Amino acid sequence: MSADDARKFSLDTYRNLLAELTGQGYQVVGFDAVDPASRHLVLRHDVDISLTLAVELAEAEHALGYASHYFVLVTCEQYNPATQAGRDALQRIVSLGHQIGLHFDAALECVEPLEERAASEARYLSALAGAPVSMLSFHRPAQKWIDNPASLAGLPHTYQPKYFSNIGYCSDSRGGWWRGAPLAHDAVKSGTALQLLTHPAWWIDAHRSPAERLADYLERRQQELTRDLNANVVITHEKGK
Ligand SMILES: [Zn+2]
Repeated sequence: MSADDARKFSLDTYRNLLAELTGQGYQVVGFDAVDPASRHLVLRHDVDISLTLAVELAEAEHALGYASHYFVLVTCEQYNPATQAGRDALQRIVSLGHQIGLHFDAALECVEPLEERAASEARYLSALAGAPVSMLSFHRPAQKWIDNPASLAGLPHTYQPKYFSNIGYCSDSRGGWWRGAPLAHDAVKSGTALQLLTHPAWWIDAHRSPAERLADYLERRQQELTRDLNANVVITHEKGK
């Protein structure tokens, strides 16, 4: 695909994609209910950039009657799930019937063992969302986690064989279907289960390239940070210097 194809991502094309799949008999189900041999569609979203954009996608899915999985980072620079806006976003996503999972950055160098950190991040996120967090998705997963059946801190993860290699898997990484579009996927051609990973930031705002979407996002974020500084930090200018 080309960069121009990536411009075609929008909430409308997302809705159309789901309509096409459900029109072919696909049923949207959660990870816990997926049957590899059935036309089951698991909708997963990794929130890498903005909880605000995630809420927009969550609203659109809810309006269509679909429940999906939103995996949220607690260790990223781009958003903070513990702020008032972050908590409101998480709770809104939950109230729309979606599930919150932990998006986990295993590459951070930390003093506590990986297992303990995953458990504590999941507990923390659950408290912020006011909902259980019972699943994990690795952020930029190391090869060792791909197709690895082991759970981490008792949490199943989205790259376990039962969710990854035993069923179809399709992702919009870097803002495009660079490894093939879902409708052309072998799983869809054969009418078997598919995990569809989409990142909210690539689908909100129509007709923008990935680079344009990121530029828009950065402009909005700059405005938010400026407002926050003005509201919370009083700067006094010393005179005579
Ligand atoms: Zn990620």
